[in-house]
Amino acid sequence: MASLIERLPNELQWMVFSHLDYQSLIHLSRMNRYFQQTIDPQRMAASFDKAQFVMRAAKDFPQHRPSEKGHDYRPGNFECYVCFRVRSPDHFDMLQPQSAFVDRLGRIVRNREPDPRTDRQIMLRRFCIDCGVCEGLHAPFDCLTTRTGKDLWVCNCRRVWSKPGCLRCPNCRGDCPLRPRRKLLM
Ligand SMILES: [Zn+2]
Ligand SMILES: [Zn+2]
Repeated sequence: MASLIERLPNELQWMVFSHLDYQSLIHLSRMNRYFQQTIDPQRMAASFDKAQFVMRAAKDFPQHRPSEKGHDYRPGNFECYVCFRVRSPDHFDMLQPQSAFVDRLGRIVRNREPDPRTDRQIMLRRFCIDCGVCEGLHAPFDCLTTRTGKDLWVCNCRRVWSKPGCLRCPNCRGDCPLRPRRKLLM
């Protein structure tokens, strides 16, 4: 038996969804298959609302807090302000840049000095490694260290590999860089 909302015409359903915040959209999208297919909380919620929610979730939800069981210390989870998810610490780079320069078209400035006449500096909030690669904040041949201490590197086709487990990407044949990590910002 479909719920009352499911039986409403589409336009009315969308009106209802548009009044829901990120958290409610997430809850609803997990309720059943219909809502899972209809609701995309990431796309439907406002950025401000999503940022507020992940900040609160990382701080307040007990499953995201650091814990110490015997000798086993588990760092807490962190929030990503690009995909608005709270993720485990192995998804975050220990030394992620705090700011970046973008050019007139909003692209990240790399491999050249920023030009104060055309580029502007933006502050970056915390982002996960997947989002960093996706947004070009982590570029090919960057070396990363996760918050759990694992060493990673990014190959030419923008896949993330762990060191020393994989030192050459089977796909693009890119080799793990030996030089230390390049800083996005000096
Ligand atoms: Zn992310
Ligand atoms: Zn590759």
